[in-house]
Amino acid sequence: MTAPQVVADVPDLRQAVRQARRKGLTVGFVPTMGALHEGHAQLIRACAAETGFAVVSIFVNPTQFGPNEDFQRYPRTPEPDHALCDGAGASLIFEPSVSTMYPSGGLSTVVDVPAISGLLEGASRPGHFQGVATVVLKLLNQVQPDFAFFGEKDYQQLQVIRTMVRDLDLNVAIRGVPTVREPSGLAMSSRNRYLSDEERQAAAVLSQALAEADDAVRAGERSADRVRQILRSRIESERLARVDYAEIADSATLQPLDQIKPGAAVALLAVRVGPARLIDNRLLPS
Ligand code: AMP
Repeated sequence: MTAPQVVADVPDLRQAVRQARRKGLTVGFVPTMGALHEGHAQLIRACAAETGFAVVSIFVNPTQFGPNEDFQRYPRTPEPDHALCDGAGASLIFEPSVSTMYPSGGLSTVVDVPAISGLLEGASRPGHFQGVATVVLKLLNQVQPDFAFFGEKDYQQLQVIRTMVRDLDLNVAIRGVPTVREPSGLAMSSRNRYLSDEERQAAAVLSQALAEADDAVRAGERSADRVRQILRSRIESERLARVDYAEIADSATLQPLDQIKPGAAVALLAVRVGPARLIDNRLLPS
């Protein structure tokens, strides 16, 4: 295996993808913001296993960050990222600059998926999903993959992308990849780098709360409010954690539920632990 080629411009990307297609290879795509970890590696491995030419993009997209969010200090680690892509089987790394993606400072077009985008992450982070949907559509048009891979860790994002692809007839199959976790249960995230050792231990409370919610539903609980309360009180038992939201929602539309529909409900959390805002989710049992 040769190390993946690294390109920064769209014409170079298109030429490399054209060459792969000429060889008869199917093209897969994994969009990322870098600071890569084992969760990303799992996406890249899934992509390389299903396709002959796995493209990974590394782009910290400014339009999906709010004005008081962590765009400036978001970790940027190009060298270890390239090594991880290589080890996981990537064929090509696309690493555009902000001016390549947003010439003359911005775009005149945006993509909005309003029904899903205003809830949960979208309510806490106005404009976030418009930034995500717009950059993902742009990347999909640049790469033109057969398959694109997204983590279930960002559950709402995955539903926004699936909705956009269906609504706009995009010619790509979307694959969701299960969340990769630390041994403590903490979902891997680039933002875990912001945590001290003590905060990292405290952050395991998200997956513990989700496991308790799962147990309650397995034992027959059907009141969404009671399960929300289970989530909330477990998080609040951790001194270093602050709940942003603790929701029980329809697993396709993400609308809040009154009654838990077996097999069609998801528990979603956003929690502040020290300097980091962490998210996690779990599909509730049928
Ligand atoms: P990001 O670099 O955070 O934008 O994430 C890029 C992709 O990796 C997204 O599709 C994420 O959902 C996915 N991802 C991030 N963390 C994990 C994880 N712990 N397990 C699985 N996928 C993940």
